[in-house]
Amino acid sequence: MAYDDVPGGDPRGRWCPKCQRPIRLGEPTTNMHFHEDPDGSRGLSGPWHGECARPYWDTITPALDKLRRSFGG
Ligand SMILES: [Zn+2]
Repeated sequence: MAYDDVPGGDPRGRWCPKCQRPIRLGEPTTNMHFHEDPDGSRGLSGPWHGECARPYWDTITPALDKLRRSFGG
């Protein structure tokens, strides 16, 4: 194989919005979704590095709790 260091179809791949670095194949990622950016056009929603997304879990978890509560009764 001549293209060993090209990890996929798209040479740009996905970029992490937090650290502005490419997300390499096999790196742990977290799929983030922001109400401010529902379709990802602002570059916020989408896959982030797992470690980069971690600080934001705190801001997202309360929303999930609220959802879970309304569904769980
Ligand atoms: Zn990152």
